[in-house]
Amino acid sequence: MRVIMLSPPGAGKGTQCRRLTEATSVAHISSGDLLRAEIARGSAIGRTAAAYTERGDLVPDDVLFDILVPVVLDADRATGGYLLDGFPRTMAQALRAAEIGLRHRIGSDAVVYLTAPEPVLVRRLLARAEREGRADDTPEVIRHRIAVFETQTRPLVDYYRGRGLLLEVDADRPEDDVAAELRSRLPMEA
Ligand code: AMP
Repeated sequence: MRVIMLSPPGAGKGTQCRRLTEATSVAHISSGDLLRAEIARGSAIGRTAAAYTERGDLVPDDVLFDILVPVVLDADRATGGYLLDGFPRTMAQALRAAEIGLRHRIGSDAVVYLTAPEPVLVRRLLARAEREGRADDTPEVIRHRIAVFETQTRPLVDYYRGRGLLLEVDADRPEDDVAAELRSRLPMEA
């Protein structure tokens, strides 16, 4: 199973990816987690990325592809697929990802688009801030990240719909209901 999770911040893509990974053992790859790991290590990539993630802006593509592509290729070999959480986020990233997918014969089977109204997204992210204390879960940065989704990521919805890959799922429901719908609509074999 090769799936892209395309959703605004707070829609639950991390949570649903974790559940799908448990159900299928396909690797869950979060671009945000990879960047946060680099930042925590204090690597050169991490220092560059931190300036962007703190503001809620997207990190430059070259930085992202350098760390992400090898991880995806390895994970696909090891687990027979991937669940991409938070990538791609721009048309440029989507087109470059499609090219890599073709070259390595690991193109995506489906793109899940989790939807929820903006006040719900903000409420969930503020609740996560209390639990996890993520540096970019402040009210101001949350608003900016949602705006970045609207301007830079939303065009991907039509792009993937046009390619016949989009699977739109209402995420303004209990986590278990969303998980059950995903299990019934995705090709669950690894
Ligand atoms: P996330 O954990 O998916 O909410 O991502 C946290 C932050 O990491 C984002 O606000 C961006 O600064 C950065 N990031 C994650 N994925 C990407 C991506 N595909 N392109 C650029 N920046 C990204």
